[in-house]
Amino acid sequence: MTAIRTETNPERTDLRRAYEPVIGLEVHCQLNTATKIFCACSTAFGAAPNENVCPVCLGMPGVLPVLNAKVLEYAVKAGLALNCQIAPYSKFDRKQYFYPDLPKNYQISQYDLPIAEHGWLEAPLSDGTSKRIGITRLHMEEDAGKLVHAGSDRLAGSSHSLVDYNRTGVPLCEIVSEPDIRSAEEAAAYAQELRRILRYLGICDGNMQEGSLRCDVNISVRPVGTAKFGTKVEIKNMNSFNAIQRAIEYEIDRQIEALTSGGTIVQETRLWEENSQRTVSMRKKEGSSDYRYFPEPDLGPIVLPAETIAHWRSELPELPAAKRCRYKRDLELNPYESGLLAEERDVATYFETVVAAGADPKQVFNWVMGDITAHLNETRAAITDLPLTPAHLAELLGLIADGTISGKIAKELLPELLTQGGSPEALVKAKNLTVLGGDALQAAIAEVVAAHPREVEQYRAGKNKLFGFFVGQVMKKTQGRAAPQETNDLLRTVLDNP
Ligand SMILES: [Zn+2]
Repeated sequence: MTAIRTETNPERTDLRRAYEPVIGLEVHCQLNTATKIFCACSTAFGAAPNENVCPVCLGMPGVLPVLNAKVLEYAVKAGLALNCQIAPYSKFDRKQYFYPDLPKNYQISQYDLPIAEHGWLEAPLSDGTSKRIGITRLHMEEDAGKLVHAGSDRLAGSSHSLVDYNRTGVPLCEIVSEPDIRSAEEAAAYAQELRRILRYLGICDGNMQEGSLRCDVNISVRPVGTAKFGTKVEIKNMNSFNAIQRAIEYEIDRQIEALTSGGTIVQETRLWEENSQRTVSMRKKEGSSDYRYFPEPDLGPIVLPAETIAHWRSELPELPAAKRCRYKRDLELNPYESGLLAEERDVATYFETVVAAGADPKQVFNWVMGDITAHLNETRAAITDLPLTPAHLAELLGLIADGTISGKIAKELLPELLTQGGSPEALVKAKNLTVLGGDALQAAIAEVVAAHPREVEQYRAGKNKLFGFFVGQVMKKTQGRAAPQETNDLLRTVLDNP
């Protein structure tokens, strides 16, 4: 990700140095269960408005919510992957607020006894280091519906609003970080690592554009060297990691400017406006007492036996941080290469399978992140559906390593292997593409030299750059199969010894 710098004014830079930002993130991730958290309605994105609803998620009187077991499993797995302590006893609470997107007028959430607490993740930074950021808590809750404002993207300025309850009751995990983050870059790195972990677990697709991952930023500034937190502001409505960085940079400058010009910071919720690249005031921030939390009477407490937690822990995959570390330590890849390979779990698995078959890790990195990734991007295909299997890529790299074919020939074969699959060795045999050396090469060179007496004469008279011409002729004669080093050596012997 590109680091964003918004300010070049030296006076501003000095102010930036005098203040320290204190940042925490609240991330809502939609769990990709097939059905909603408390009813059997589908969670599929993109259905016709108000198609996936029932009396439970519409909040009709007299209905009872039933917890989806998959939601609990996913939340616990996320908690474990984030190094949290899992609560053996946890419960749901009602969070009261009145808004048209919430048909019950309360949201079922978790208040004082969340499912997981006291975790951390290690966010990798662009300079190759990483920063440990604490996780305060992780809890389960239901999503609200979606308001569509006619004629405007906000309530203000619209003629009327429509509500779609398909999203009502879709399971969410809210993950709250400690205020450990000190820069826009660290915030984006934290959010990206969190997304990576959730995608590795297969519990959230992490699509920010579709809203399945939503990040709210809490941010304040304080004079460097002081311990007391400044007044914090919440920023919402950023739908990319880049937008998170820009919103934070903007807000740091805005708060410092307010404080140094004698103003104060109001505790409020602000919206990031992508069009104007600034944050605007949305509403005064509610305190938790405004929500009048109380225990949800329709759902029993969640009591988790230690064996269940241990079983779910045993099902966790190796996580991106562990993979990056292993690639650096055991495969001698650099932080950049390790980071790219560990970004997607399926790509990492493909890479590891090729390496396990005996290929050189650096070579595999080059092929996977070069031509193969380009092909996948072009065809919008997943690496798991690639006709070129890891075993066959290992075979292809083996043919280069043992000198059977040149790297150039391998590249030429790649399009066919990527689309048709099959054994590279069989293909090389069928097309007669093995490297040409020894007697056959010697014969080809003799023919080339005999066919160009004038060039031979000129070369011997001192026109050295004609050497490349002869190499080219040999390659042409052998259809690119001539062994490069041997061609050079043999040509020199023939040309330099008349
Ligand atoms: Zn429903």
